[in-house]
Amino acid sequence: MWPQAATRLTRFRGWIAGGRPRLIGALPIGFLVAIAVVCIVVAVFSSAQRADQEELVQERQQFANALADRGRLVLHELENVTASDDVLAHLRSEFVPAWVHHRVGLRLSTFFAHEHVFVLDGSDHLTYALHGNASADPSSFEPGRPDLTRVIDLLRGRALADDGERYAQASVDAVTGLGRPRRAQRLQMFMTRPAIVAGIAAALPDDAAKGPPPLVLAVKFVDGALLAEIGQRFDLPNLRTIAAEPVGKDDTVFVAASAGGEAVAFAWTPNRPGSLIVKTVLPFIAFALAGLAVLVGLALRFIRRTAATIAEGEIRLRHLALHDPLSGLPNRTYFGERLASVIEDVGRDGTLGAVLAIDLDHFKDINDTLGHHVGDGLIRAVAQRLSRALRDGDLVARLGGDEFAVITTDVPELSALERVAERLIETLRAPYAIMSHTLVIGASVGIALIDRRSADSADIMRRADVALYRAKNEGRNRACIYDADMDADLRERKELENDLRAAIAENGLSVAYQPIMNASGEKMAGVEALCRWHHPRRGDVGPSVFIPIAERSELIIALGEWVLRKACLEAAAWTGLTVAVNVSPLQFRRQDFVEVVERILAETRFDPHRLELELTESTLLGNVDEAEKAMLRLKARGVRFALDDFGTGYSSLHYLRRFPFDRIKIDRSFVLSIETAADAASIVHAIVSLGRGLGMKVTAEGVETAEQQLFLRAAGVHSMQGYRFGKPAPAQTITDRLEDASLTALKIAAS
Ligand code: C2E
Ligand code: MG
Ligand code: MG
Repeated sequence: MWPQAATRLTRFRGWIAGGRPRLIGALPIGFLVAIAVVCIVVAVFSSAQRADQEELVQERQQFANALADRGRLVLHELENVTASDDVLAHLRSEFVPAWVHHRVGLRLSTFFAHEHVFVLDGSDHLTYALHGNASADPSSFEPGRPDLTRVIDLLRGRALADDGERYAQASVDAVTGLGRPRRAQRLQMFMTRPAIVAGIAAALPDDAAKGPPPLVLAVKFVDGALLAEIGQRFDLPNLRTIAAEPVGKDDTVFVAASAGGEAVAFAWTPNRPGSLIVKTVLPFIAFALAGLAVLVGLALRFIRRTAATIAEGEIRLRHLALHDPLSGLPNRTYFGERLASVIEDVGRDGTLGAVLAIDLDHFKDINDTLGHHVGDGLIRAVAQRLSRALRDGDLVARLGGDEFAVITTDVPELSALERVAERLIETLRAPYAIMSHTLVIGASVGIALIDRRSADSADIMRRADVALYRAKNEGRNRACIYDADMDADLRERKELENDLRAAIAENGLSVAYQPIMNASGEKMAGVEALCRWHHPRRGDVGPSVFIPIAERSELIIALGEWVLRKACLEAAAWTGLTVAVNVSPLQFRRQDFVEVVERILAETRFDPHRLELELTESTLLGNVDEAEKAMLRLKARGVRFALDDFGTGYSSLHYLRRFPFDRIKIDRSFVLSIETAADAASIVHAIVSLGRGLGMKVTAEGVETAEQQLFLRAAGVHSMQGYRFGKPAPAQTITDRLEDASLTALKIAAS
């Protein structure tokens, strides 16, 4: 049983352990959600960044196009104003500053808002200068002349536009036949401001031979209003030259031209549609994420709570699996597990431990008489007392019914164990108040030691049971420590049980009859049938030995029937004699008891009026109504009942009044002490008057001396039984005595 319990426990533990990762199961969910959130955030931000980059590329392209367009426009405007023959002729050969001012300078400044206009003659001397809309002294512009050199060189063919000058334009004009560009424009710094400097060679087709043509140059600054206009048109916020305002970290710098001169750089704050979207969407994302976080939190909380509930349930289940629900004490499984570990510890440390098997004496009677609810209450109270009476390290378990067991460790010596057992018995014997009943119950304790040589749990439990059996047999309410002799004792009992079974089956028993005399002790009023067993090897075995064995193994039922049948058969001829037959509790409580008696009476044709059944008080415990019914049914047939061994059991008046007894038999122990103990004499008096009061006959058992006989007669008993009148003897002896008695009677009558 113990190894099985251990396996069950291991399986159960595995099951508990399997339930534990439930909370951990929530982690992957949380992890996946976190990854999803990170992915969403990364996707949103990287998309926004890419959108911003695309936008920037586009803005830069647009700005570059705008600059190029503006350069072409400025050149186009310059050409527009200077393209007529009239203007060309004036510039080349009829140069009149006022005329040039009105027809060229003012037009360019007024119509096209060119900030500077210059005219250079064939030798590159400034011949005209305009600033704003007023002509100025050309020589005053000499310091700014280096800023014009590049365009002049392009127009004169002294230089070619190189790759770096992306915003320059200088093309060879086939029409002029100059063999060099007729017009040029470039984006550059002019007088520290970015500007488009456009120039045109004022030459007619046939002018080639006339030497280098005059040049008309126009300057349009690319800042201020112009930049604002470009910025507005192409949506380039805060478009400016880098000189106008320091470049911020959000700005983009656009270097328009760098080769062949100073870098021309602009800056603006690029639009960031991605960032804008993010900014717009971010609160919603944050809101959604917060919602998700709340959801995940709720889900986790739910999972945690569910896991906690499951864990709680598991703990409860585990407790249920390992504890007895009625007493709350550890059960057999738990006990087996602890015992195994104590055996292991003892084997290792060399200390001493013990198992104390505890059995409540006559607990069944309480259950039967007062009901299971009182029995349950008693079990709970016993459990509490045992728990309190033990040391912390000790374990008390309920193994079932009224069986308890204790494991105690670190036992210093055997006497300590005896003291523990005595203390437990003492504790359990104190009266209990349960549901308005005051109960007193005894306990027997069997002790088995656990030492280095102890084999296994099963063996230790067996030893404790053997010791318990011995404690019960020795009169209960005591403790016995197991020793090897007990095993022999038990073996012997088992052997006796088997032999008894065979004896019953093979007619190996006999019945002895003890006379029951009338009050004067002169006349035999009846006999008591007492079972006898002559064992083939052991010789005579007394009822005090084999009746308890028969009662424990239920052989008593067959034995009782056999004795009854035998007595009815043997006593049939003893006309006028009552035959008393003992009935054991187990026999009487059987459903078919009445039928069995009736059947035997019918079979043996024995007169029921001569039969007296002897019951003890313990026979009546349990189902009182059923017992009464059985008695009444048999009494209706004429069978009588005697209450045997009165005074030794419960001696309850209740029983005497409730059940229809015809006779009380005063126990031998009172008769024995009549002369020595005054109270015994009083008890005998009391029982006699009680019996008489209830209309019952009173028989005294165990009468051995003439004094006892005298006393009992004086006390008023109706009949007596004892060695003084004859020991139990075979049927033939009674037959002989009856014959002798009738002969004597005849003689007396004759004399
Ligand atoms: P009991 O029914 O009380 O029987 C009386 C016992 O007292 C008998 O013991 C008898 O021999 C003994 N006795 C009678 N007079 C004296 C006396 O003057 N001095 C002494 N010392 N003893 C005396 P026994 O035959 O050993 O039976 C013992 C008990 O065994 C009986 O007690 C009865 O309870 C039980 N018993 C015997 N036969 C049967 C049976 O067939 N069925 C059942 N159920 N129980 C039986
Ligand atoms: Mg008897
Ligand atoms: Mg008796």
